Amino acid sequence: MKEANDLHMETRLLHDGMAQDPLQGAMVHPLFMTTAFGYGDPEDIEATFAGRDAGYLYTRIQNPTIADFERRVAASEGGVGAVATASGMAAISTAILTLCEQGDEVVAARTIFGGTYSLLGRTLSRYGIKTAFVDPLDIEMIRNAITDRTRVVFIETTGNPRLDVPDISAVAETAHEKGAVLVVDNTLTTPFLVRPGEWGADVVVHSASKFLSGHGTAIGGVIVDTGLFDWGAGRHPLLAQYHAKFRKFAFLAALRGQVHRDLGGCISPFNAFLIASGLDCLSVRMERHCENALAMSAFLEKHPAVESVRYPGLESHEGHVLAGRQLGGRYGAILAIRLGSRERCFRFLKGLKRIKSVPNLGDVRTLAIHPASTICRDVVGADRDAMGAWDDVVRISVGLEHIDDIKQDMEEGLEIAD
Ligand SMILES: *Cc1c(COP(=O)(O)O)cnc(C)c1O
Repeated sequence: MKEANDLHMETRLLHDGMAQDPLQGAMVHPLFMTTAFGYGDPEDIEATFAGRDAGYLYTRIQNPTIADFERRVAASEGGVGAVATASGMAAISTAILTLCEQGDEVVAARTIFGGTYSLLGRTLSRYGIKTAFVDPLDIEMIRNAITDRTRVVFIETTGNPRLDVPDISAVAETAHEKGAVLVVDNTLTTPFLVRPGEWGADVVVHSASKFLSGHGTAIGGVIVDTGLFDWGAGRHPLLAQYHAKFRKFAFLAALRGQVHRDLGGCISPFNAFLIASGLDCLSVRMERHCENALAMSAFLEKHPAVESVRYPGLESHEGHVLAGRQLGGRYGAILAIRLGSRERCFRFLKGLKRIKSVPNLGDVRTLAIHPASTICRDVVGADRDAMGAWDDVVRISVGLEHIDDIKQDMEEGLEIAD
């Protein structure tokens, strides 16, 4: 477990990891929109390439604007460092490919994001990395799925559209019994609600395209090492090799110096700049997102046209107490409703005025989508049901509008559904 930092998250998000611009003293880290960095002397560039001198060479590998974003996310998660990537999927694939080689295995929650499900279940299996999908609430099932070749256990802080909340500490303990690394996707809850490292997670990944950016303007991802895993323990040969030189930075050094560099999924400095400015107001946005989502879920739960509502903030949710403890008394912006049939879902979505049908979440505006016909359409049968993407489910990402206005929009959509 990691000690929680003394300062409040509101303050940490604004100050931790911030470095003053040494040239002009700019308050906001400047945007270095450049491909490469020049050196006067060949000895200097050689020393930088060899890692003897710190310095920038080429933006695919490192860039000051990207480094600023990485420092801030690492600080907010209480981690030892971070690497930013082109997207959330690039963060997840790069992290997994740093931790696994051919023949290795992953145990992953079956309720994870559709793209991650496809990465693990389809794409990586073609390269000899096999995944067993489990119910992340069933610790026995996780324990039984872990074999001698399991290198990674992968969960999300909140699955969607199922909205299940795994017990991170219990999963971490189970992963560590067999020497596996616990990777947690914290996209839906952000470090404002939960720092998975405080509950035993070794690596945290984010789709920064969602709440971290917050404004729906930029795709990006980030990988944080919480500093808990002993990379020298020997089960990960690449990391054991890097551990000899980089000690607690072995994972990030192997990732940045080899896997990320070679795969090439770097973030644009411009996107890193936009997302870093999203971090400035993350706390205020998350507060309003969570407050609106709680009010919306209570409203919908009482609504006669809605069969059921899934939201961890409702007492009717099986993980309500655990979620309250783990997420600090806030429950996120995402909820799911069941309307009885696909036809009613479609009529409801057509009846909405301001709320748009968009395959995104974490935007400032409220978004709604029918997962079964869109983001989960590649997942079939029992697997789709396990994700909670039944044919009559609408997922809602609650935005920052005035609650009365989005309630009214819902009310009108539900009238039309009948
Ligand atoms: C969106 C999302 C991703 C993928 O992120 P991109 O930035 O779209 O590549 C991964 N995990 C979760 C939980 C997401 O919501």
